Amino acid sequence: MRVPLLDLKPQYEQIRAEVEPALLEVCRSQAFILGPKVESCERAVADYCGATFGVGVTSGSDALLLALMAEDIGPGDEVITTPYTFFATVGAISRVGSKPVFVDIDPVTYNLDVSQLEAAVTPRTKAIIPVHLYGQMADMDGVMAVARKHNLIVIEDAAQAIGSEWKGRRAGSIGDYGCFSFFPSKNLGCFGDGGMMTLQDTEKTRKTVILRNHGSDPKYYHHLIGGNFRLDVLQAVVVEIKLKYLDGWTAARQANAARYGRLFGATSLLSEERVSLPEAGDDRHIYNQYVIRAERRDELMAHLRENDVGCEIYYPVPLHLQACFKDLGHQPGDFPESEKAASETLALPIYPDLTDDMAARVVEVIENFYR
Ligand SMILES: *Cc1c(COP(=O)(O)O)cnc(C)c1O
Repeated sequence: MRVPLLDLKPQYEQIRAEVEPALLEVCRSQAFILGPKVESCERAVADYCGATFGVGVTSGSDALLLALMAEDIGPGDEVITTPYTFFATVGAISRVGSKPVFVDIDPVTYNLDVSQLEAAVTPRTKAIIPVHLYGQMADMDGVMAVARKHNLIVIEDAAQAIGSEWKGRRAGSIGDYGCFSFFPSKNLGCFGDGGMMTLQDTEKTRKTVILRNHGSDPKYYHHLIGGNFRLDVLQAVVVEIKLKYLDGWTAARQANAARYGRLFGATSLLSEERVSLPEAGDDRHIYNQYVIRAERRDELMAHLRENDVGCEIYYPVPLHLQACFKDLGHQPGDFPESEKAASETLALPIYPDLTDDMAARVVEVIENFYR
């Protein structure tokens, strides 16, 4: 039995009757840029996230970049984040000319270890970017306490966390900016690239909206230098339709995680400490990824792939050790928990349409490997 890491075709069948005519309608209207369909998507996503405003953008990466631009963060400034994240988080910090300052992760949640956060603050620090990795929120009480004390902007990288909750509050509703991605592999994916920013402040939203469209305000008059960061109408239409299904898909991912818990629990792999499973805690985890730690991880990955079970490493090289950031002067050992996670973790299939048989097959193949 082949078990892919992700298969979006069954999901497409579920929404096809609704999406195809809606896309055709856009084609026939020939209205592709901004306008009421993008605005209605923005309203729907902001409401879903418990945020005040939504601004549709080209991607999650551009959402991060635009948030930093809206705060005039640039050369001479520092932005604190985690080295154990997707490249875009740190890429955005460097692209505006500011310096990424890393804080190691908590080994259980893989998110910023807030107990180390304050030590990283300097007079040059302007912002903190907590990343809600794999669909589980960072300790936002800890992040907000340090941010308030030192007057820092908080930009939530919520690309993997649409609908995730921290003490009942959703990702993108706590910080100054929430940055979401509609890349197809995210829990709410569009048909290409797309993203959304959520905000709570009217002035910040106004500036973000202007920067999204070249800084033009009014049209052809520029006080700011922005860019083309617009979410297009075709993607907005897909996102708004899919949003209605999102809670059902999230429940299916959570059920798959619970099922893995039962299946692994019935083996001796946990007691022998061959593998350890993610711990969700009390907050709403949306399982964008289901990531285990595994003994002999690389060999296990090869074995799974030989047996047609999809799996992936998110992420094999922590960002402080990437060649492009060598000027930051970091070395192996600087962020030990991030480095350990990069060498021990493995993502298993968790997508909503994963069947009982498929999940059982994944665990069987892992069990065979350690026998
Ligand atoms: C996917 C992702 C991004 C970037 O989103 P894109 O839409 O692909 O640009 C940023 N941060 C994290 C943590 C992500 O997972």
